[in-house]
Amino acid sequence: MQVTNRTYEFQGVSLTELATEYGTPLYVYNSEKILSQYKRLHDAFSGVNVRIKYAAKALTNQAILKLLKGAGAGVDVVSIQELQLALKAGFDKKDIMFTPNCVDFSEIEEAVGYGVQINIDNIPFLKQFGQVYGSSVPCCVRINPHIDAGGNVKIMTGHKGSKFGISIEQVNEIYEVVDEYEILVNGVHVHSGSDFKSADAFVRAAEVVYSVAMQFDKLTFLDFGSGFKVSYKEGDYVTDIEELGKKMTDSFNAFCLNYGKKLDIWFEPGKFLVSESGMLLVTCTVIKETPACNFIGVNSGLNHLIRPMMYGSHHDIVNVSNPDGDKKMYTVVGYICETDTFGSDLFIEETKAGDIIGLKNAGAYGFSMSSNYNSRFRPAEVLVHKGKHQLIRKRETMEDLLKNQIDVEL
Ligand SMILES: *Cc1c(COP(=O)(O)O)cnc(C)c1O
Repeated sequence: MQVTNRTYEFQGVSLTELATEYGTPLYVYNSEKILSQYKRLHDAFSGVNVRIKYAAKALTNQAILKLLKGAGAGVDVVSIQELQLALKAGFDKKDIMFTPNCVDFSEIEEAVGYGVQINIDNIPFLKQFGQVYGSSVPCCVRINPHIDAGGNVKIMTGHKGSKFGISIEQVNEIYEVVDEYEILVNGVHVHSGSDFKSADAFVRAAEVVYSVAMQFDKLTFLDFGSGFKVSYKEGDYVTDIEELGKKMTDSFNAFCLNYGKKLDIWFEPGKFLVSESGMLLVTCTVIKETPACNFIGVNSGLNHLIRPMMYGSHHDIVNVSNPDGDKKMYTVVGYICETDTFGSDLFIEETKAGDIIGLKNAGAYGFSMSSNYNSRFRPAEVLVHKGKHQLIRKRETMEDLLKNQIDVEL
């Protein structure tokens, strides 16, 4: 029989022991995976001045932010609150990029007050930015290259119908506004969404950025966003980072030569850095055999991990407490009073009530999208780092649920 227990521990720390010690549902993160993903991406771009800005929205725990800061990352934030969390974690303002979408302009002014890099993604705000700041504060412009990157339609952002970025068909308006107010454009940004199908599609989007970038003479960086695909199941297509590194390095160096100045190249991965590091540990509450299938019911649901229901993400699911069990076909469902299937018809080691079940690839957009739906507490979070485990967020309590409610006499 295949010995699989290697999968069910992080840095020698047994995941069943973590479940026993901290209880379930529990998010656990493996720092080694985060750091190795960071290094892999960094190494692939060793031929250019690369800066990796972690997209904080994927997982905003202070411990994770500090870990990535320690590795040398900057951070990309999409709200004032994320900006403040990044500052609290110790990021320098110059390493923070603020990339909001459809926020109130006052948020942009607040971010300018913090002294971070501003990224603007619509023409009215670019105009307003010019009126308020003229050339006194630099900004980056976010372009929508109208490239269908492939992948999941709900997380695509660079196609024509997307709300993100300034359409490539409106670049002349950008140039006019920039000229009129003498705006200091120091960067051009594109984020074509997740799950790029090939390095060539990435390079194609880059070429659109180059054509826009040539019109600005004070650039210091080009930001190519993210979109690196990670593996969700065996045999999955993943972005070949090394191939992408080679192709983009050649393409970027050729651009810099043409531009007449060596610029920095930025990326903003979220999922690539933290997805595979995380597992959501839950407990099997019941095995329900029906004429249709065998359900594993667990003590968690879409309140803790919404991605499968929201956009059909696949998560491999394993029985952490029975790694050597024979595999059987199960459908894993949560306890929420709404359909909350985590995975259908998956082969999982034989399971009985009380077993610890692990949902893989839960590091990105897991905890950060969690809620109190059904008045459940959000899970605790544990980081395994240097072979040791530590609690990085407590499980919520009734007090948290009532904290902002006002007790009124009726
Ligand atoms: C969400 C987001 C990212 C990260 O996307 P991933 O798919 O998690 O890598 C990067 N840049 C911007 C602007 C984003 O909004």
